[in-house]
Amino acid sequence: MEISDWEREYRDSYFKMKDMIHNVRGVFVAYNCNIDSIKKIEKTDILHMLNTVNTQTVKSRLQEYPREISSPEDFVARLLISMRDGKAAEVPTYDLKIHDWLTKNLGQGKSRMGGQAGIIANTLANIDVRNVIAYVPWLSKEQADYFVNKDNLFHPIIENNHLRLKHPTKAYSSNKKPKINWIIEYSKGIEFDFSGEKIIVPRDNRLIVSSRPPWIKIDMEKDIYEHLQEVYKGIDGALLSGYQMIKEVDEDGNTYDYYVDKSVKLIKKLKEVNPKIRIHVEFTSIQNRVIRNVILKKIIHEHVHSIGLDTVEVANALNVLGYEELAFAVIKKDERAIDALYEGAVILLHELKLERVQVHSLGYYICVSSKDSPVTPEDHKKSLLFAATVAASKAMSGDITTLEDCDQGLEVPIWKDGYNKFETLEKHLIERGIGTLKELQDGCVCTPKHDVIIIPTKVVKNPVATVGIGDTISAAAFVSMLSTLNAK
Ligand code: ADP
Repeated sequence: MEISDWEREYRDSYFKMKDMIHNVRGVFVAYNCNIDSIKKIEKTDILHMLNTVNTQTVKSRLQEYPREISSPEDFVARLLISMRDGKAAEVPTYDLKIHDWLTKNLGQGKSRMGGQAGIIANTLANIDVRNVIAYVPWLSKEQADYFVNKDNLFHPIIENNHLRLKHPTKAYSSNKKPKINWIIEYSKGIEFDFSGEKIIVPRDNRLIVSSRPPWIKIDMEKDIYEHLQEVYKGIDGALLSGYQMIKEVDEDGNTYDYYVDKSVKLIKKLKEVNPKIRIHVEFTSIQNRVIRNVILKKIIHEHVHSIGLDTVEVANALNVLGYEELAFAVIKKDERAIDALYEGAVILLHELKLERVQVHSLGYYICVSSKDSPVTPEDHKKSLLFAATVAASKAMSGDITTLEDCDQGLEVPIWKDGYNKFETLEKHLIERGIGTLKELQDGCVCTPKHDVIIIPTKVVKNPVATVGIGDTISAAAFVSMLSTLNAK
C-alpha cells in the first residue's frame, strides 16, 4: 500500500475502533505507580550542590561508580558521570533521606503521574474505557491525587467487610507513603569545573533517581484479594506491570518466589472470575537478570496472553532466554535490525506461549499473533492503527484528556522513514518466502504458525512530551483489541 492508502486505513480504523471502545465492559490495571518529580537543573544548581557535598568523597565515588544512591555524594557522582557523558541513567535509591536532601537543595520539582500502571490507568480513563479499576498496593493520599478526576476510574477498598469501588482519592490508606522518583534534566552546553576537570555537557539528557522504599511490594492486600470476585465479573482484560520491583530477597527475608507465586495466583483468580479475560503484561527494562528471567519464565510464560514492549526490551528478553546474537542484532542499528526484531517477536510468542506480542518502535509497530488468538489479524491491525493515532495525539499535546482529543492524531502524517523501514522488512520476509507481496503490503501476513501484523506509524516532529507514550500505545492497542472480542 502507498502511504496515502495507509492514511485512509488510519481514518477508517480509528473511527471504527473509537466507536467500539465502549464494548469493553472494564479493565483491571495494577501494580506500579509513583510521583515523578521533574527538575531541570542549571549551572547554579550544580555549583550549589558541589559546595554542599564532600568533594573528596565524590571523587572516590566517581571511581567506584555507585550502582545505588545512598548519600548526596553518590548522587552527585552519578550526576557528574551522566552530565559528562550526556547519557541517560536510572539509579535506584533505598534511602529516603536523599529525597529530603534533593528537595532542600534543588527545590520542589514539577510533579506528574509516573509508573506504568498509573500512566495506563489515567490514559484508559481519559479515553473513556467504561470501568478502569486500578490497584496500587502502596496507594497513599499524595499518590491518589495524581489519578485523573474521572468517574470511570476506581480503586478497590474494603468497607464493612465488603469490597467497594471508589475513585483513588477516596480509596487510599492514610498510613501509606508515596514513592517519589526524581527526574533530573540538564541541557547541552552547561560548563563547569570539578576538581580541576572541565565538564561540558555534550547533549540534553536526564538522570532518574528511582526510589525503592521497603514498603514497595508487588502484592495485593489479603482482604481485597479474597473479595475480588465480588466486582470483577465485568472485567474483560487486565493490564499488569511493575514486576521489576520484585527483589531477589526483600527486607522481610521473602525471596522472589514468594511474590511470583502471589502474582500468578492473582492472574489465576482473575481468570477464574472471567474465563474469557485477556491478560496483558507491559514489559520494561529490568537490570537484574535473575528477576528478568523469573518474570518471563514464571509469570508471563503460560499465564499471560499478551505482552507489550519496545525494541530494547525485546533485546533484553531475548538475551535472558538464550538468544544473545539475535538480541545484539535487534539493537545494532543496521538494515537487519527490523528483521531481527520480527524474528525476536516470533520467538517470544512461541517460547512464552503467548497469544500476542506487540512491539513498538519509532515509525512502525509489529504485532505477532498466535493461530488460536480469538482476534482476527485484520482486527489486530485496526487496534494498532487506533493506538498509533492515540500515541500521535499524546505526543502532539502532551496529554489526552478525552477520547475526542485523539482525533487530532489523525492530522499527523505517517513518518516516511518508518514507512521505508517497514518496506525493508517486507523485502526480507519475501526473500525468505514468508508471506506474499499482497499480504505484506496490506499489513497482515499469515503463516502456518502465527500471523504478523505490521503498520507504519505517525510520528510527531516536535513532540510536547514523549514520556509514557510506549505505555499509551500498548494500553490503547490492547483495549481496542478487547473491544473487538465483545463485538462478536
Ligand atoms: P516510554 O517507556 O517512555 O513509554 P518507550 O521506549 O517504551 O518509552 O516508547 C516510546 C515509543 O513512543 C516509541 O517506540 C514510539 O513508538 C513512540 N514515540 C516516541 N516519540 C514519538 C513521536 N514524536 N511521535 C509519535 N510516537 C512517538
